Amino acid sequence: MRILVANDDGYLAPGLQALVRACEGLGEIDVFAPEQNASGTSNSLTLNRPLSLYTAANGFRYINGTPSDSVHLALTGLLPVKPDLVVSGINNGANMGDDTVYSGTVAAAMEGYLFGVSAIAFSLTEKGWPHLDEAAAVARRVIQQAIERPPTAGPWLLNVNIPARVGVSRAPWVVTRLGRRHASEPVIAQTNPRGEPIYWIGAAGDAREAGEGTDFHAVAQGHVSITPLQVDLTHHAALPAMRQWASGA
Ligand code: MN
Repeated sequence: MRILVANDDGYLAPGLQALVRACEGLGEIDVFAPEQNASGTSNSLTLNRPLSLYTAANGFRYINGTPSDSVHLALTGLLPVKPDLVVSGINNGANMGDDTVYSGTVAAAMEGYLFGVSAIAFSLTEKGWPHLDEAAAVARRVIQQAIERPPTAGPWLLNVNIPARVGVSRAPWVVTRLGRRHASEPVIAQTNPRGEPIYWIGAAGDAREAGEGTDFHAVAQGHVSITPLQVDLTHHAALPAMRQWASGA
């Protein structure tokens, strides 16, 4: 078993170190992570400049690029053999509902999945990594069970959100669908020290669809949420009506 560990918060993030510790003894571990915090970079690849690879004193390898760059480089030439599993995280904050579209944590896992490697993204629901050791214990059990008893045939992609609370290592696991968020908060306009206008992207919206069965609901109950993801964006249910629509053109 060879496990590739990545994240989007950067190679110095406590969540990455915790995830590496969680994998200890489960296989051979390689770490490829971004040099800097690259949260919210989604699946972006750096195509307009070369990438540099560095090795930290603890053996973690880091790249001056995105989470997807890190996993992509590892899988397309920097690892001597293809890993059996990609794990990403443990992210500084939740990745639920629409967050998954923007998340670099999910993207790093997805990059593995796109190359046919099963992958798991782990996020801790509160920022600042409170109760990180307990979250890491959850991650270890999820990884262990996924290795021993793969959830589905063929490569799979799981999005795991772990509530930041005491006792979460004994919390039930709930298989969920993604909820939805309200639209983001409005842009925040400011003026920089040189008198020029600058803008901050507003905070993510609150949960809108957070009913039973969603990731938001499971986490609100204090449970570990596990959502199986797919990458196919086709709106399959819309295909018949769309074919009808197009045939009248
Ligand atoms: Mn992050």
